[in-house]
Amino acid sequence: MYQTCRLNKDLNVTYKSNISTYLNPNYIYLNGSLIDDLTQGSSVYKDSIVTKDPVCFSSVSGSIYAVKEKQIIIKNDFMENYEAPKRASKYAKYTDQIIFKLLQTYHFSNPQIIEELAKSPHTILINGIDDVPYVNTRTYLLNNLSEIILETCEILNTTIKPEEFILTLKNTDAETIAFYNDHVGSFPFIQYRYLNDEYPLGYKEILCNKLSLEEANTVLITIEELLEINEIIKRLRPLSEIYLSIIIPSGKSFILKTKLYTNLNDIITEFNLPKDQIYYLNNLLLKQTIDPFNYLIDNTTKALYILPPQEDKPLPCINCGICYTSCPFQINPLDPEEIKKCRRCGLCTYNCPAHISLGGDSRAQ
Ligand code: SF4
Ligand code: SF4
Repeated sequence: MYQTCRLNKDLNVTYKSNISTYLNPNYIYLNGSLIDDLTQGSSVYKDSIVTKDPVCFSSVSGSIYAVKEKQIIIKNDFMENYEAPKRASKYAKYTDQIIFKLLQTYHFSNPQIIEELAKSPHTILINGIDDVPYVNTRTYLLNNLSEIILETCEILNTTIKPEEFILTLKNTDAETIAFYNDHVGSFPFIQYRYLNDEYPLGYKEILCNKLSLEEANTVLITIEELLEINEIIKRLRPLSEIYLSIIIPSGKSFILKTKLYTNLNDIITEFNLPKDQIYYLNNLLLKQTIDPFNYLIDNTTKALYILPPQEDKPLPCINCGICYTSCPFQINPLDPEEIKKCRRCGLCTYNCPAHISLGGDSRAQ
């Protein structure tokens, strides 16, 4: 029912083998209103709540440097002080209710997952596939944080007790497949599903359809969300660091681990990233550009593409219908009513031979 497709990957993108880290910003910037207990100059612990609307935890320890309208700036003291020392919890005694409570307390970034887990789902489906073009974060995490990933799978399996527990991998990732196959004996409850490198597999209905799973009875959790769950239920702390793919053609791409609420400008300076190029956010198909000197990393930041300015001048529509036939959700992007249901995968714009900005393309809105 839902069609997927292989994308042409014309850019020469290869990743550095080692992860890069930027965990010591001088300042972090939180968008929200300061909570009542704090004022300018107040000290803050790492992982303490600093703002309301939305609730944000500080990813560093330090002091409130400035309070602007809807933005709080915290000066890092580089001490990483916590309010109370946290030790790894004895999660072996956890129940599903304790897990739900912890996920709520630490404001797990996808509350819908908590709701779905609470309904005793038939299937827990972990998506380990990077389907967005040139993004490599999940492959990296699967290969380098396997112990944490498998441990968290085990905690969810023993507390939630689904009928089946599935982990999807890309069938071209031979190294990852070989590694996880070696651990089948220790984690026999995990069923592996190997899928083609196709787009878009990140949508729940599409992935469930590919795997013949009942969508309503399945909880879809990404690898990044699984790591956040581990941080919360094992280390009793909120997400404060994230991984993202920095994509620069010609062999310079890398996986970056950085603090939440870091200003991208500081990362550009630290890694000497190009200042005269266009920065695209998360999915190149969506062509969403950002101002790199005024962008804060948050938990929705998944990837940054740094590319030269491109000229793809649109031509007149030739009524070929490719935009409609290539939509996985059977939406006609040229129909003003149907486009309201657009899921922003970007495939219609990607496939249009006339280079017209259609659904998903932020320039079309
Ligand atoms: S794919 Fe492009 S050229 Fe073809 S019908 Fe759609 S908008 Fe027109
Ligand atoms: S961007 Fe929207 S209209 Fe275009 S293919 Fe994707 S879901 Fe369909």
